[in-house]
Amino acid sequence: MRVRELVVLGTASQVPTRTRNHNGYFLAWDGEGILFDPGEGTQRQMAHAGVAASDVTRICITHFHGDHCLGLPGVIQRLSLDRAPQPVPVHFPFEGLQYFERLRHASSFYDAVDLRPDPLTDDHAGIKADKVQLEARRLDHGIPTYGYRLVEPDGRRMLPDRLREHGIAGPAVGTLQRTGRLERDGAVVTLEEVSEPRPGQRFAFVMDTRLCAAVHELADGVDLLVIESTYLDAERDLAEAHGHLTAGQAAAVAAERGVRTLVLTHFSQRYDNPDAFRREAEARFDGEVVVAEDLTRVRVPARRP
Ligand SMILES: [Zn+2]
Repeated sequence: MRVRELVVLGTASQVPTRTRNHNGYFLAWDGEGILFDPGEGTQRQMAHAGVAASDVTRICITHFHGDHCLGLPGVIQRLSLDRAPQPVPVHFPFEGLQYFERLRHASSFYDAVDLRPDPLTDDHAGIKADKVQLEARRLDHGIPTYGYRLVEPDGRRMLPDRLREHGIAGPAVGTLQRTGRLERDGAVVTLEEVSEPRPGQRFAFVMDTRLCAAVHELADGVDLLVIESTYLDAERDLAEAHGHLTAGQAAAVAAERGVRTLVLTHFSQRYDNPDAFRREAEARFDGEVVVAEDLTRVRVPARRP
């Protein structure tokens, strides 16, 4: 199976710092390469991380504050320059259409890119995608903002020993998977007898928002949650006023919703010690905590048993 991995391209909110680029996140998930929130400098960060323009099969924008979208022109023009052959859907809040159009045509270039803009309008939007199931939910920030969630449906894992016991091999396996049952020498073998549940994997991406129901719904039961923690709990009032989360709040959501790996990011420039974010999160959440640095790579954890 191809790798399922998050590549962190940038981790700074509002302004880049000497050690943190503006936001940017690339999720490799089987054949998909989803670029989330390309802030300023994303094209160069992709070069550092070894992510090619042709790896990008989809772009998701949470909202149109600069730290989440100013890198879009560079990425679009690079897709064009490299003659990336794939059509690239771009999902974003409908209210930001004018910003998208400006970024799309920010400067003169030979335009050979096949972008498919998908402005989102519903509070809870299902996104049509071939290889993955994606959904978007409206968050609570100063301007229209969406979080995203990727869901692999639960399936079943075939058990070779059981198949052998029943003498099932070759095309009969496919038939059994499709129809759920198979007649063998007058007896019926069901899919349940020769397979076990295979839980699907889930990923969620939650950027600028106050705590709201959508944060919980997006995070519910995911294997890997990327979530903003602009502030620490000591600045909770500031977080609330500016429509952001604290590390403590993000970790509490992760704990309540059964998240497995928690990736904190989108840090305010006021903090220079990432350990404080880790301490605050680990006090509330038992799973793995990653305090993201630029170019951090995080594997989607192994499938639940
Ligand atoms: Zn931001």
